[in-house]
Amino acid sequence: MGFAIVTGGSRGIGAAISEKLAQEGYDLVINCASSVQKAEAVAEKCRAHGVKVTVKQWNVADYAACEAAMKEIKDELGAPSVLVNNAGITKDGLLVRMKPEQFDDVIAVNLKGTFNMTQLAGAMMMRAKAGSIVNLSSVVGVTGNAGQANYAASKAGVIGLTKSAAKELGARGVRVNAVAPGFIESDMTDVLPEAVKTAMLGQIAMKRCGRPEEIANLVAFLASDAASYVTGQVIVADGGMI
Ligand code: NAP
Repeated sequence: MGFAIVTGGSRGIGAAISEKLAQEGYDLVINCASSVQKAEAVAEKCRAHGVKVTVKQWNVADYAACEAAMKEIKDELGAPSVLVNNAGITKDGLLVRMKPEQFDDVIAVNLKGTFNMTQLAGAMMMRAKAGSIVNLSSVVGVTGNAGQANYAASKAGVIGLTKSAAKELGARGVRVNAVAPGFIESDMTDVLPEAVKTAMLGQIAMKRCGRPEEIANLVAFLASDAASYVTGQVIVADGGMI
């Protein structure tokens, strides 16, 4: 079964993905940016499934930090079977008022971070001739969203990166797919104003938010051999929003 790396596994969707993969029997490396204690708490829950779990803190936007982390992981565990690029941030604002740093920061974590980890883990998986990479995009990467030009651009970029990587790595037995969640309960959506939440709910066919576990189930499917002939795909999980 091997081991899986989950970036941003300390909270929200990443925590649910970690728990689901642990339940499926993967050993885990759980990454976070700063909330090591939260990541340790997630790791403890995962260990209850009888798997080995390591928590590692690094910034996915920093290529040198990703390189150092992947070297450590390779020395300790070998090549990963699964990489989930889940780490992500928002810095919302209307386009005309958006500060260049707001744009750069979101692209750096969401898109460049996904590139950094896909390149480094992808190379190891290619050598092992096996592996599955699942990237977290978003429905707004497909539709766009007022107030999220930076975030939508990063998530649209993740789709292009996913499809290109799938074409490059497929012949070496490595699959690359993306999940595009809609409106999911987490710290990221908690901060939205009530009016925005109500407006969003109105657009969802199922008239409710998604739960992190519902995204984790789809990620686990794409990561697994059950999806052995699926690559280069973007699967929307949004309760019928778009
Ligand atoms: P969240 O609750 O805000 O958690 C974000 C996670 O990413 C945390 O574990 C955080 O670590 C980590 N992270 C942030 N910046 C990082 C960095 N530079 N390096 C390493 N880790 C970093 O977010 P979420 O709602 O669970 O979202 C998870 C993913 O799903 C994101 O990619 C998000 O864009 C995507 N998504 C979410 C929704 C939604 O409705 N929630 C919808 C569509 C897509 P720390 O705890 O250490 O800060």
